[in-house]
Amino acid sequence: MTVQTSLAGDYVTDVSDSDISMTVALESGRILTSDIVVTATGDEPNTQWLTNSGLLTDNQLLIDEYCRVKDTIVAAGDVAFMRTSQGVQRNPIWTNAIEQAKTAAALNIRMPIPQLHRLARETLAVS
Ligand SMILES: Cc1cc2nc3c(=O)[nH]c(=O)nc-3n(C[C@H](O)[C@H](O)[C@H](O)COP(=O)(O)OP(=O)(O)OC[C@H]3O[C@@H](n4cnc5c(N)ncnc54)[C@H](O)[C@@H]3O)c2cc1C
Repeated sequence: MTVQTSLAGDYVTDVSDSDISMTVALESGRILTSDIVVTATGDEPNTQWLTNSGLLTDNQLLIDEYCRVKDTIVAAGDVAFMRTSQGVQRNPIWTNAIEQAKTAAALNIRMPIPQLHRLARETLAVS
C-alpha cells in the first residue's frame, strides 16, 4: 500500500470516481489513481496565542522527531508541523494526533530512547 499525502504545492484540479478506482489530477499534470482518497482541507492551526512566545518558527509550531518544540516543551496533533521528506508539513488526522501524543508523553516520562524512536518513526512514516 502506498500512502500519498501533502503534495507540496502540486494542487488537486480534479477528482473522479469510477467503478474500480479513484483518480486525482494535479496541476502539474500528474495523475494519481487510488482505491481511497481521504481529504482534510481548510483547517488552520490556532497558534495566534503563541505569537510572542518565541516558540514559532515562520509562524509554525515546529516539532522534531520526538515531538519537542524545545527541550522542555512538546506539541502534538493538528497544531504541530514536522520536517518530512516532502518539506515542513502537518498531518491533520486522528491517528497522527494520537501517535504524536504518545511520543510526547513518553518523552516526558523518560521512556527509553529506542521506544521513543519507534513511536516517532511510526508518526513520521504517516507523513
Ligand atoms: C469536520 C472534520 C472531520 C474530520 N474527520 C476526520 C476523520 O474522519 N479521520 C481523521 O483521522 N481525522 C479527521 N479529522 C481531523 C481530526 O479531527 C484531527 O486531526 C484531530 O482532532 C486533531 O486532534 P488535536 O488534539 O490535535 O486537535 P483538536 O481535536 O482540534 O483539539 C484541540 C483542542 O484545543 C483547544 N484549544 C485551541 N486553542 C486553545 C487555547 N488557546 N487554549 C486552550 N485550548 C485551546 C480546542 O478547543 C480543542 O478542543 C476531522 C476534522 C474535522 C474538522
